[in-house]
Amino acid sequence: MPVSESMRRGFLIFCLIILCFQPHGQSAEAGSVLSKAEKFLRAYPNFFSGYRDNMLILRDGGGIQFDDGRSKSFEELLSEADPEDELIQPYPTGPQSYGTPAVNFDPGRFRCAALFKKMYGANAKEVESHLTTVPWLPHSAHLFIRITRVNGVDRQLEAVSAELDQLPPEDKKYVLKPGGTFSWRPIAGSDQLSAHSFGIAIDIDPAYSDYWRWNTSDDHGKLIPYKNRIPHRSVEIFERHGFIWGGKWYHYDTMHFEYRPELLQPGN
Ligand SMILES: [Zn+2]
Repeated sequence: MPVSESMRRGFLIFCLIILCFQPHGQSAEAGSVLSKAEKFLRAYPNFFSGYRDNMLILRDGGGIQFDDGRSKSFEELLSEADPEDELIQPYPTGPQSYGTPAVNFDPGRFRCAALFKKMYGANAKEVESHLTTVPWLPHSAHLFIRITRVNGVDRQLEAVSAELDQLPPEDKKYVLKPGGTFSWRPIAGSDQLSAHSFGIAIDIDPAYSDYWRWNTSDDHGKLIPYKNRIPHRSVEIFERHGFIWGGKWYHYDTMHFEYRPELLQPGN
């Protein structure tokens, strides 16, 4: 029996609906490998020169494997991420992006240590050799902080600082006394290096911040209650300049911002 035009159209609409309402599976949301590689190229134009045969090509002539082809558990993503895994969970932006994060939704916590070491330095001494000092809220806080010059992170943070300096006092109070920037150290409760080790992260005032470990002694078996006091306005300023915020993570860290422009590129 020939398929009628209306049945065919109905089937096409059905397919379209299925596509639109695909469950938020990790691979479906994160897009193709090539589009993910392009996000790295756009985010770090002075560091990468291209992408070929599953390799991100560095301007210094080296390369780094993009996708190791392994399917990883949440714990493995935290400790063994390749560059492709960094984008497995899309980092949300905009007014709708401040809700309570779903369990283990931690976009940006999967970090490829080998890539970070190539970019920012393989040990404390190498990272420190790339650090510079920028003024922090020069009209209000009168402080200086240390941050890396690699990838122009210092210039981006200086722009953040200048914009935060313009905020009204009720918003500015959260950022006047930063908790710290560079520190070569593992993440608490783990042997993975923190983003602070690479000179790309800043903690704003811990006195106004919330951290999942302060509210939960055991991550296993019970839900972590979400808490945040940081206003959206300051988060948006950081995001506009390439910094993601730890307040959008299930394992939240609302004082924490780190330079991860690959997570802020448009498209999936
Ligand atoms: Zn931090």
